Amino acid sequence: MVRTAVFSDVGQLFRVQSVGRLAILLAAALVLSGLGTSSAVAADQPRPNILFIMADDHAAHAISAYGSRVNKTPHIDRLATEGMRFDRCFVTNSICTPSRAVIMTGKYSHINGVPVFNRFDGSQPHLVKYLQAAGYYTAIVGKWHLGSDPTGFDYWNILPGQGLYYDPVFIEMGVRKKHPGYCTDLIIDFTLKVLEQRPKDKPFFLMCHHKAPHRPWDPAERHAKKWAGVEVPEPPTFHDDYATRSDAAREATMRIDRDLTPRDVKQKPPEGLSPEALKKWKYQRYMQDYLACIDAVDEGVGRLLEWLDRNGLSENTIVIYTSDQGFFLGDHNWYDKRFIYTESLRMPFLVRWPAVVKPGTVNGDIIINADFAPTLLEAAGLNVPGDMQGRSFMPLLRGQRPPDWRTAMYYRYYHYPAHHRVQPHYGLRSLRYTLVYFDKLDQWELFDLEKDPHETKNVYDDPEYADTVKQLKQQLYQLKKELKDEDQFADKPPKDDV
Ligand code: CA
Repeated sequence: MVRTAVFSDVGQLFRVQSVGRLAILLAAALVLSGLGTSSAVAADQPRPNILFIMADDHAAHAISAYGSRVNKTPHIDRLATEGMRFDRCFVTNSICTPSRAVIMTGKYSHINGVPVFNRFDGSQPHLVKYLQAAGYYTAIVGKWHLGSDPTGFDYWNILPGQGLYYDPVFIEMGVRKKHPGYCTDLIIDFTLKVLEQRPKDKPFFLMCHHKAPHRPWDPAERHAKKWAGVEVPEPPTFHDDYATRSDAAREATMRIDRDLTPRDVKQKPPEGLSPEALKKWKYQRYMQDYLACIDAVDEGVGRLLEWLDRNGLSENTIVIYTSDQGFFLGDHNWYDKRFIYTESLRMPFLVRWPAVVKPGTVNGDIIINADFAPTLLEAAGLNVPGDMQGRSFMPLLRGQRPPDWRTAMYYRYYHYPAHHRVQPHYGLRSLRYTLVYFDKLDQWELFDLEKDPHETKNVYDDPEYADTVKQLKQQLYQLKKELKDEDQFADKPPKDDV
């Protein structure tokens, strides 16, 4: 059986032939020159399946493989033990919908058209379309949150918008239906059903996207009491007073003590608490539910891994666990995300792929969510389209660091004032520094992570850092230019301070 698929969305032509079960990529990128050929998959090897598991707002510091002080995630940890843990995986715009658009396209928000919670234009080329055109069976289950209907998927069963924790409606290929049960468990049930019923003559690309542990943090009934009476340790910056910071930190309305609502904490606080004691109580309530939501996610990962084991698919399936961004777990007295600061910027990223990735390895290089699409295309034996802005980290998966791998990444956030009055900003995160510019305020911050790993001391105006500031700014503007960020989505174009 010979099948030919032609895909010319961006002026590229992929011709894919598959012969029986062994799908072999014979020719690709015939039109555009300058695209390298991929050697990720030897011609006589079956192409790998890809199971992409993504949670929503799951901070790396709530995963025990990342050294969590607050919980244990034994099933997610399996991916670290049997695969690779990335310690510097950063999001380019720390908010749900934009991050998802970056993952789909391999392009920054100002190029893919999704800077805030606006609708994703699904007619543009993206990762899943490329995989589908190359003969992958493509499916997504769970939270989509891109406004438009999914494109490029053979099967989709998604939550409308944010979705609900209990008895949620799902939209299956355009048909809405309410399902009794707990959302995280239903997403795993439906994912397993896709795995069971998929066409067996194709490799699969399956996205399993959880709603959890997104606000409002409603745990499964079996976990509702699990954390009662547990004293969750407070983070080292719980009492941050923002003394050296820009006005942005003071303006943000996502403080544990002041901004968590009765719906968030769900119980009435004990009478007569001092402001300090009330803050501590609210933190405990928040974390108890947040961590209980993660317990169900972790169990679900266990069910998926167990299914792959039982069906002999663990060897040739790339399994990824990540989250659309990080989250503040009381760090700086905050919940939520949005800021460039580490807890919000960092995405957990664990990958197991026995054929390529050495078990139990850790990588400290900077990767970004725009790299996911190029990496997965290369892993599938495809060429990376020249207009993707991310870079394939296949070499890192093999344990080889290219000498010119990035040492800094560019970040930009737009969504203001909703929902938490986090000022728009752009900046740079390098191996050692965080440099950030709040363009509406015209205020800067610089953090030296070597001396100040928790980013509490802004040294932007410290004369000792004058040369560093100058150097980092050059690097920032260079990246901004290379990435074609021409302030397409800024209210008022900021003046670059060269
Ligand atoms: Ca999110």
